[in-house]
Amino acid sequence: MGLTLLTAWQGAKRRLEAAGLAGPVIDARLLVEAAADATRADIVGDPYRALTPEQEDTLETYLTRREHREPVSHILGRKGFWKIMLRVNANVLTPRPDTETVVELVLRDFPEHAAWSVLDLGVGSGAILLAILAERPAARGLGIDVSEEALAVARDNAASLGLAGRLALLRGDWTTGLGDGTFDLVVSNPPYIATEVIETLEPEVRVHEPRLALDGGEDGLDHYRTLAPEILRVLKPGGRFAVEIGYDQKDAVEALFREAGAQDVATFRDLSDHDRVVAGAKKLLEITA
Ligand code: GLN
Repeated sequence: MGLTLLTAWQGAKRRLEAAGLAGPVIDARLLVEAAADATRADIVGDPYRALTPEQEDTLETYLTRREHREPVSHILGRKGFWKIMLRVNANVLTPRPDTETVVELVLRDFPEHAAWSVLDLGVGSGAILLAILAERPAARGLGIDVSEEALAVARDNAASLGLAGRLALLRGDWTTGLGDGTFDLVVSNPPYIATEVIETLEPEVRVHEPRLALDGGEDGLDHYRTLAPEILRVLKPGGRFAVEIGYDQKDAVEALFREAGAQDVATFRDLSDHDRVVAGAKKLLEITA
């Protein structure tokens, strides 16, 4: 075929566009870069560099997979989140920019050099927990997930980011077995899509992402019902929490946390201006004279 970086990119764009994909330009660039072992700067600065026959074959495989609606993150096996690069596969939810809102809030509330503890419930790839630990060198974490396959991904990510020494990753059913008043911070991006709605999502999510990480039961709120009182239980007095929510779940999730006794409950928006994170605190112990 005799493709160059430029013609490969142009051809890839046309194919992905013809397949009706939402972001053909960026997807094409990412797949060409990976297949041709090139950087973004190479495509612009060295556009006539020829692909080897092996690179052309690799690109062909990548494009066919993308045409079948496999997410780019699964094809490449990685996804950038906050300031870190994570390994991902079909056993974990691909980290989304929306979720960076959780990280942003936490970094605002917890100073850089203090020693504190964070629990991530449903840790998945490790995105939230590892992004936080990477920015807070004296903090330590615990990540819980029900999926052993997801924990393998999180462990791999912790090791490659050099953070394995500051966290534990354990299989578990949410907070079962964790002690009262243990953590300074609890974060979570639980499954929150209503079961029926999952069938209406794009195939990238519906077919390729783990149901376990998406399905929030009949109204999408099942896991918050479990988590709100449990998060308040495992937090230290004065500790904080931040959980991701669906764009239309603000009122329901705020109410669940208030009923569980949380203070300062508030919702924060993501960069697309959708309600995305409910945060709050556990009361400090009341001192009575
Ligand atoms: N934000 C994800 C989506 O819309 C869902 C994540 C979740 O259920 N926690 O695909």
